[in-house]
Amino acid sequence: MPASSPQHAGPESEATAPGPSPAGEVKPRVRVAVAGIAGRMGREVGRAIHADPDCVLVGAVDVAPHAQGRDAGQLAGVGELGVPVCASLAEMWESAHPEVLVDFTIAPAAFVNAQAALERGVSPVIGTTGLTADQVETLRRLASERATGAFIAPNFSIGAVLMMVFARQAARYLPEVEIIELHHEKKVDAPSGTALRTAQLILETRGLRMAQRPSQEDVRLEGARGGDLEGIRIHSVRLPGYVAHQEVIFGGHAQTLTIRHDSTDRTSFMPGMLLAVKRVRSLSGLVVGLENLLDLE
Ligand code: NAP
Repeated sequence: MPASSPQHAGPESEATAPGPSPAGEVKPRVRVAVAGIAGRMGREVGRAIHADPDCVLVGAVDVAPHAQGRDAGQLAGVGELGVPVCASLAEMWESAHPEVLVDFTIAPAAFVNAQAALERGVSPVIGTTGLTADQVETLRRLASERATGAFIAPNFSIGAVLMMVFARQAARYLPEVEIIELHHEKKVDAPSGTALRTAQLILETRGLRMAQRPSQEDVRLEGARGGDLEGIRIHSVRLPGYVAHQEVIFGGHAQTLTIRHDSTDRTSFMPGMLLAVKRVRSLSGLVVGLENLLDLE
């Protein structure tokens, strides 16, 4: 017996709305599928989609052996929803008809999943990091050809987006900067998508001014000065105990400015993810970055 409330019943009830809007119109809920539902982020996304009255979880995919044959609601810890975890997208398309596919898997899978979604007119919302610039351009082209909204966010937390916006502002006055990002020990890609995006935003602001500062350094251990993106040093720390953290440190004459953001729990990513899920169908083509969905003026 499904444990879901009438408001959050499984896929068969997709036409049911959470209730009449003030104008008396019934607003259909967004039909969402999640790729990577058994992962750390996927389970949190499953919980957040289920708890949101404007969304309904209709499909779930994961390749993890322990997820096969399970119910997505059980994996997410919200009780049975009648949404089976499928081993492949092809299987999921047969049992569910999502409008939006939220992806928190690994980069190669996210790229393939997003292409498959766009081919079917389903809007991908990609939280998975590590996609290459070429892959992003391919998705941009496909989204435009299919006239389907698509969204990628290297970071869904509002505080991290503000950190990037403030870093971009500071770079106008303090162009010399290094980035330290700190994540849990199971994170696969380095540096983080957030660190790369922050560096790219800073580079757009300052251009290549002071980018290749001539160095007299005597580096005694390879990698000690971090990775180098057009002159911006990025340092990646991986340790148990961290979730997702970043410091952007600007140096100027006799002063430094540190902008730091900490995600101490994965729930910090959920409001941004839900915003993207609700907005992605109205986007024209691919949009990258949560800052583009927020009113930051
Ligand atoms: P995780 O715990 O390893 O979860 C990933 C899940 O996806 C695993 O269950 C994995 O199964 C599954 N998977 C792998 N390939 C798949 C495929 N082809 N189809 C379906 N499922 C597949 O990782 P996580 O910590 O949740 O992180 C996931 C991604 O989100 C990472 O790229 C991370 O950097 C990113 N992230 C983004 C944000 C943001 O705000 N944008 C925030 C946090 C994390 P197996 O374990 O069997 O491989």
